[in-house]
Amino acid sequence: MKKRIRAALISFFIPGGGQIYRKRLFSGLFFIIIFASSILFLKVIWRGFHPFSYFIFFSYLILWIVNIIDAYKGPFYFNAPCDSYCPAEIKPSIYISLLSEEKGKEALNRIFDTVPFPGTLGRICTAPCEKPCSRSGIDEFIRIRYLKRLIFDYEHKEDSIIPIIKDNGQKVAIIGGGVAGVTCGYNLRKKGYKVVVFEREETAGGMLILSIPDIRLPKWVVEKEISHVKKTGVEIRTGVEIGKDKSFKDLQEEFDAIFIATGTHICNKLKLGEEKLNGVYYGLSFLKLTKYGSPPSIGKETVVIGGGYVGLDVALTALRLGSKVSLISLEKREEMPAKEEEINEAIEEGINIKSCWGVSEILGETNVKGVKLKFCQSVYDEKGDFNPTFDENINTEEKCDTLIICIGQLPELEFLPGSIIKEDKIIVDKGFRTPIPGVFTGGDVRSPSSVVDAIRDGKRAARSIDLYLRGFQARLENLLSFTEYPIPGYPIESALKEKEILTIPLKGDATNFEELEGKCPYEEGLRESRRCLKCPIRYGNF
Ligand code: SF4
Repeated sequence: MKKRIRAALISFFIPGGGQIYRKRLFSGLFFIIIFASSILFLKVIWRGFHPFSYFIFFSYLILWIVNIIDAYKGPFYFNAPCDSYCPAEIKPSIYISLLSEEKGKEALNRIFDTVPFPGTLGRICTAPCEKPCSRSGIDEFIRIRYLKRLIFDYEHKEDSIIPIIKDNGQKVAIIGGGVAGVTCGYNLRKKGYKVVVFEREETAGGMLILSIPDIRLPKWVVEKEISHVKKTGVEIRTGVEIGKDKSFKDLQEEFDAIFIATGTHICNKLKLGEEKLNGVYYGLSFLKLTKYGSPPSIGKETVVIGGGYVGLDVALTALRLGSKVSLISLEKREEMPAKEEEINEAIEEGINIKSCWGVSEILGETNVKGVKLKFCQSVYDEKGDFNPTFDENINTEEKCDTLIICIGQLPELEFLPGSIIKEDKIIVDKGFRTPIPGVFTGGDVRSPSSVVDAIRDGKRAARSIDLYLRGFQARLENLLSFTEYPIPGYPIESALKEKEILTIPLKGDATNFEELEGKCPYEEGLRESRRCLKCPIRYGNF
């Protein structure tokens, strides 16, 4: 930090000097040449004071301020492809670079600087950063998601000390302690806000803790992350339901801003009379009961309706409870809203996936006996909207004694003022603002999506709330914020010599509830991180 201030001071007196002091020759020379030539130009055209000279002086003033800010912020690095594609703006290139230097603790701190869920993302992130990874052009992409998990598993210590954050005197209420809510609260707390998260369940974590099965995300990971969030000073009041234990109006009176992140908890229904039959369950409640040790009794043959993440998780869970499982998906295999590797994993475990079928009838009088299916011709219309079409003449039947429906979820909005709801959705703009000033929303309640997208919403909403509450000061801080890229101590060329690609160890299988992926030795993670080409350094900086 001292170096930055010194550089800014030098540039205050000698434009470009601070940049040269920080070994940024190109930028330094740029400012020196611009200022020197401008003075010469001014000397040539000077005709005394008139409006044009004021305009020129004003332009120089702006350039001079930019020069000081630039000296303070330091070099500008191009984004690595992995950085550009991370919705949560975590900058994988930085933590991978730190890991490759055996600075795992620092790498974890860098991740915690941006998001509160490194262990979770390391396990269930959809990892949009991996596909564009530059290393794919040579052999295979860096296992970015798994490296994040490795850093968390090896480096996170319960007793780690978190610096005390000074309160800025303003208070924000977060309704919903799920991914978006906790992320938003965590980011606001770091800016000094007093944050209170209201969660109606007995534990925070939302879907992560309620319904994602332990085979993908063990509870202890989320518990550790929530404990880290609490240590920063975020207050989490569990067992408090807004609209029942406390009204929305109370929150408006007590807090300077409110963020609604209640998620989606009502399961969509098929509306084919399924609620009258025994043996029919809905995905989220099935997963929750199983996760908390009292799974519903299921039969020998289970049919799961829905080809998304919840459907796949339900199918894998039912398989482990001893049932034969078929999964019915409206979409073609390649259109299913789940990661290809997770679909393949389910097939390998023995799930029978039937694509392009929709349910036309549920069979059975008291107990469910099966489903009648109709062929789905297409799921999305020309505009890309969900609008399935069927061929009613192509039918088939699937027998079962247990039916689990996983066709999406809806939000509960009754506790909110009617003025912000339209067509069963909260009215929200791009800045996460609702029509009521000071009330924001984001996460699944705004638009159901993946965990990493909910984190993106939480972070962006926090920025928007900060701008709303602190205005100019927040803008200035954003302008002066910077990302320091760690310069790797070993030559990038050595990355090209690393040939061995990390194989993610598999632990659990269909016979048990062990986590599917295992923990690899630290050294293997180090080796994988050293395959990284350090793109920001490779692309250069100025
Ligand atoms: S090679 Fe490294 S820095 Fe470049 S895109 Fe891949 S992970 Fe990111």
